[in-house]
Amino acid sequence: MLVGLTGGIGSGKTAVSDLLGQLGAGVIDTDLISHQITATNGKAIPAIRHEFGPEFINNDGALDRPKMRALVFAQPEARKTLEVITHPLIRQEAVKQAEELSKAGVPYLVFAVPLLIESKGWQNLVDYLVVVDCPEEVQIERVMHRNNLSREEVKKILAAQTSRQERLACANAVIENQGSPDQLASQVRQLNQKILQIQKDLLSSS
Ligand code: ATP
Repeated sequence: MLVGLTGGIGSGKTAVSDLLGQLGAGVIDTDLISHQITATNGKAIPAIRHEFGPEFINNDGALDRPKMRALVFAQPEARKTLEVITHPLIRQEAVKQAEELSKAGVPYLVFAVPLLIESKGWQNLVDYLVVVDCPEEVQIERVMHRNNLSREEVKKILAAQTSRQERLACANAVIENQGSPDQLASQVRQLNQKILQIQKDLLSSS
């Protein structure tokens, strides 16, 4: 079974995917893959250099992230160009990891995708969608603290993402992450049990 995991910035996707991984799920983190392909000698670097120019690549051969972030925020066409380069590479690596994890015998796969709702490709791929949710004020506080950003900067990022309501409307299950880490862990344990049960029911009915 392919489980999709998404949520707004700072909602707690990584916290949830880490916990699911500890419970035995095979986790594929597309955010991590996106960082790997744009790190030094990453697979996306030659095409980025070619399309955007060498000024977007640091001396160590990695993407200049703040510079690219500023560009794609200001110019939607630049975001499209970047996505045309990175999305196929992310998908290719995600499929490779999925095959490896399946061979290793994990009970189910989790695709953690920050912008899953925005991407039809991912939505069509997953069988069960988990949304990590918390009030916007909690997201703002976490991201200000973690990334050392101002309230206004975080609000801009939130405004560019799918709304909380739209995301929740697509969810098969919601993890409410405004409480303590212990409360989160307990919800994730229940979610893991639920997914294992759904999978068992599917197998016995097929
Ligand atoms: P992003 O989309 O920005 O990658 P994310 O959705 O993966 O974020 P996390 O990185 O898991 O979110 O969490 C954001 C921050 O909030 C982290 O610093 C994390 O340690 C903290 N955090 C997550 N859940 C909780 C919680 N229940 N209690 C306290 N802190 C939390």
